[in-house]
Amino acid sequence: MGVYNVIDTKTLCPKCHKPVEWQSKHLIYDGFVLANLLENIVLNERMEGEMHTFCDKCKTGFDADIINGQITNIEYRKPIKKLKY
Ligand SMILES: [Zn+2]
Repeated sequence: MGVYNVIDTKTLCPKCHKPVEWQSKHLIYDGFVLANLLENIVLNERMEGEMHTFCDKCKTGFDADIINGQITNIEYRKPIKKLKY
């Protein structure tokens, strides 16, 4: 994990409907990639990208797309495979 921006949205956990913090995976504003500086980002129609969250309450991860500032395509995150040695 690295540094990210926090998406300022009231979008709740899609599974248990608790407040969660959505973090940007990448965010493009007017064609420019926004640097990840732990800033609060209010979405507008000139932004697109992806964001994700992990809900502490129900232990579920979600990914979502941001298209024209709108949050769409919220999906369960694929489980991270554990490496075996
Ligand atoms: Zn949840």
